[in-house]
Amino acid sequence: MTPSQLISLPATIALVYVALLATYVATCLVVTRLNRSAAKIQPSRQTPLQQIRRDQRQSMVSLAVIAAMFGAGDWSYTTLGWGFRPLPGIGGTVLSLIMSLLLFDAWFYWLHRLIHTRLFYRRVHQWHHLTIAPVVWSNNSDRLVDNLFLQSYWLVAHLLIPIAPAALFAHKLFDQVTGVIGHSGYEHGGRWCWPPSPLVGVTHHDQHHQFFRCNYATHFTWWDRMMGTLHPDHDRALKANILRSGAASGEG
Ligand SMILES: [Zn+2]
Ligand SMILES: [Zn+2]
Repeated sequence: MTPSQLISLPATIALVYVALLATYVATCLVVTRLNRSAAKIQPSRQTPLQQIRRDQRQSMVSLAVIAAMFGAGDWSYTTLGWGFRPLPGIGGTVLSLIMSLLLFDAWFYWLHRLIHTRLFYRRVHQWHHLTIAPVVWSNNSDRLVDNLFLQSYWLVAHLLIPIAPAALFAHKLFDQVTGVIGHSGYEHGGRWCWPPSPLVGVTHHDQHHQFFRCNYATHFTWWDRMMGTLHPDHDRALKANILRSGAASGEG
């Protein structure tokens, strides 16, 4: 391995960190503005400013950990050739993106359930749940070990599916944006997430923070429906929150 190949590892990690941090901050600012015309999901609960500051500080560290994992995975693929070659053509890129969305959702669902067990919850995941009514800034407020469980997908994805580095990065940016929206505390969903659509609205993860033992997936509701972990009131509450948001923005 040449010295320039070695230097490209920290350079890749730094670039990914800047991109993730910029996406996080920009999405938080835009969604906070959009919250003004949407319905608050837990109207009676206010998150203290001190808690929001804690989430912002922790997110700076947490995003660096995610960047290190994503960057190391990307670097091992492009420099050492570790992983499957991507599928050719636009059709191949679309297929690999769909595969990645489905696989990450399954990864997130099962490992998220694991860190909710008695063995792991307090040491790994409790930090994230101290915010009961999440705000945009809460998305990446996770401890290091929590990221090793849920975000290590980005380190090993090239070893699991044939996907081009740019397509995997596009998926990560999508996950970053939807994660922030999912923690906004205001329902921004519309017809695309109206049940029985498998796509999650904000209500899905907001209920996870409110009730803890339900709604473990991140992109789709399929796993929660199949495994009986979807909150029993999820579909009704999501529809009601979408309708309230429509009324709040003057559409309903
Ligand atoms: Zn959780
Ligand atoms: Zn959360």
